[in-house]
Parts: sequence; structure tokens; C-alpha cells
Amino acid sequence: MIGQAVTELARATGFEFEYDGTTEDRDFEHRGGLSVRSTPVLIGWATPEEVPGLAGDIAGLGGSAYVERTPDHRTYVTGMVVLDTEVFARLSSQPGGFEALRAIVMHELGHVVGLAHVGDPSVLMYADNLGRTSFGPGDLEGLARLGAVDCL
Ligand SMILES: [Zn+2]
Repeated sequence: MIGQAVTELARATGFEFEYDGTTEDRDFEHRGGLSVRSTPVLIGWATPEEVPGLAGDIAGLGGSAYVERTPDHRTYVTGMVVLDTEVFARLSSQPGGFEALRAIVMHELGHVVGLAHVGDPSVLMYADNLGRTSFGPGDLEGLARLGAVDCL
């Protein structure tokens, strides 16, 4: 599921992603820091007790850390996606659950590469999940624009 979501993100942005293996790192909320350049994006599952931002009906969180190249130029260098263990356990056995959960991962990965929520309910980056399971035209346009930005 994660691999498929990353593949969709790579296809839409043109970015290349490299799987770096599993880790014991569970520091979802403090990515970055002094070694920010060499810190991989962390993708994992947690409960609201561990990551309070997952409380309520939040199925996942995604975000990035950046370095400031100049006052006008920030570059995202790492990030995280944390997914609600209970939501994933509940939906994974339901019809269409895999696609719904993959869409949650794709939405959070959209945040990792720099997309914010938009007010258009026909796209995956809408704040609420309305059943969409793939990137919409607006998502694809935003992801392509992000992919075209000079990273240096
Ligand atoms: Zn979101």
C-alpha cells in the first residue's frame, strides 16, 4: 500500500524516492534538526495516545521539515506520515478498504511534498475524505508544479 502510494506520488511529481528500510525511529513530531539533510521521511502507524494529533476522526498526519536557503527560498528536506493504527485495522478488512487507506497515505504524502488542503471536494487534498481514491486533476496539477520547482 505504501509502495503504491509512493509510486503514484513519484509519477505525479517526477520526484524519485528511495526505500531506506525499516526503523525503530518513532519521532514523528520532531523530524529534522541538525541532521535534517540525512534524515529520511518516516512513515509509520501510531495511536492517538502516542501522537495526540491523531485523536478524534483523524486517520493520518503528514508534514515536512525544511531548510532555509535564503529568506525567500525554503527547501523541504524530510518529513513524516503517521497513520492511525485503529483506523487502518478497522478499514483494512472492509470492501474497498485497501483503496481508501491507500488514498489516506497519498493525501498525507501530498502534504510531505508541500501541498496544503484545498477547498475543492473533487481532489484528494480536500481536508475530508469523501471517498476519492486517486489524485484528482487539481492534485495532479499541484504535484506537477511542485515537481518542477528547482530544489537547489
Ligand atoms: Zn490533510
